[in-house]
Amino acid sequence: MRIILLGAPGAGKGTQGDLISEKYNIPKISTGDILREAVRKGTPLGKKAKEVMEQGKLVSDDIILGIIKDRIEEIDCKKGYILDGFPRTIEQAESFENMVKDDNEIVLYINIKKDELIRRLSSRRICPKCGAIYSLIVEPPKKDGICDNCGATLIQRDDDKPETIEKRYKIYLKSTEPLINFYKKRGNLVEIEGNTEIEKIFSKICDIIERQNDNIKK
Ligand code: AMP
Repeated sequence: MRIILLGAPGAGKGTQGDLISEKYNIPKISTGDILREAVRKGTPLGKKAKEVMEQGKLVSDDIILGIIKDRIEEIDCKKGYILDGFPRTIEQAESFENMVKDDNEIVLYINIKKDELIRRLSSRRICPKCGAIYSLIVEPPKKDGICDNCGATLIQRDDDKPETIEKRYKIYLKSTEPLINFYKKRGNLVEIEGNTEIEKIFSKICDIIERQNDNIKK
């Protein structure tokens, strides 16, 4: 089964994607993580994407579709996979439909209030060395500003700075929110209340996945 995680930046797609991946042993593809790694390594892709990402804008559809195509070919897709941060535009969603051609897919739309996502994004810190993610509100590191796993100094993503968060949200409303109706029309969108604890959201997601799996077996 393919699981698409849809929602505004800060809705918790990455966190829930990791939990689903671990529990059901299916890979997660995060276009944001792939791009950040490319930027860190200074690859040609990273050089193209760096400035756009720092400004909180969207990387072009053709670059993103290229990344997705390569990644899907690389992984073992038989058990399914999770998409975090893709698709983000109608064009990406339409091109992706043509790429995969089967409808064993659910779209989990995590709905979250704007105030809450600003609170979450501005308190997020990441480890530039091992990629661990912390929340100064919910999951702070044991030692202030230091990664629990590897001891590196934590940083704030450039695009999590207040002026960029607002811009990313506007872009989300314009380019990505229309996907809610797009997938509603396809009949495979499930809305999940995102203004609550990680465990509660995850438990709902597990119910949905298991129900879907039962339907497929019938
Ligand atoms: P994320 O970690 O998903 O918030 O992504 C971080 C940044 O990577 C975004 O603000 C965009 O600049 C870029 N990005 C990630 N996924 C996509 C996508 N599907 N389409 C366009 N840009 C993307």
